[in-house]
Amino acid sequence: MEAHLAFLIRCLEEDAAVAHEASRRDATYVAGGAHWVWEETRTDRECELDPVTQEFVGEDHRAGTVSLRSREQFDVGPWELSQFAIGSAEEVAVSVGLHILRHDPASVLADIEAKQDILRTHERLSNGGRSACQRCWPARCEILIMVRAYRERPGYPGDAPER
Ligand SMILES: [Zn+2]
Repeated sequence: MEAHLAFLIRCLEEDAAVAHEASRRDATYVAGGAHWVWEETRTDRECELDPVTQEFVGEDHRAGTVSLRSREQFDVGPWELSQFAIGSAEEVAVSVGLHILRHDPASVLADIEAKQDILRTHERLSNGGRSACQRCWPARCEILIMVRAYRERPGYPGDAPER
């Protein structure tokens, strides 16, 4: 239980650090994470993404290229500019474009925060992680199930044995 808990805490902290780092323009960060949108490069118009009628992001504008930008604006000298997460892209499949938007830094950080809240309720009740969680006892602690989502990460402690 202790190894799984420590592993999960580390994964969430690493993901939060990555999402935070992906939420800046130069040295200015977006607290809580950037919200990304696809925009048509030439007109700066936001692209609507419809996987039924479009193959590629920007087809609604017959766009040549699109860019992935933050909704948040940054003060850049006389202008306000977005973060350009991807400056210019062509033929981004709509399904991939949607996936990226659903996993923008703001969404990832909100998800991590919720998981950390869940973790704390189990952690607090598990005698510092050494013994079985009293919240879940006598069943298997749900944290051991949550850990499985990170099984492809280095250091995965393995599936916890059934008891
Ligand atoms: Zn538990």
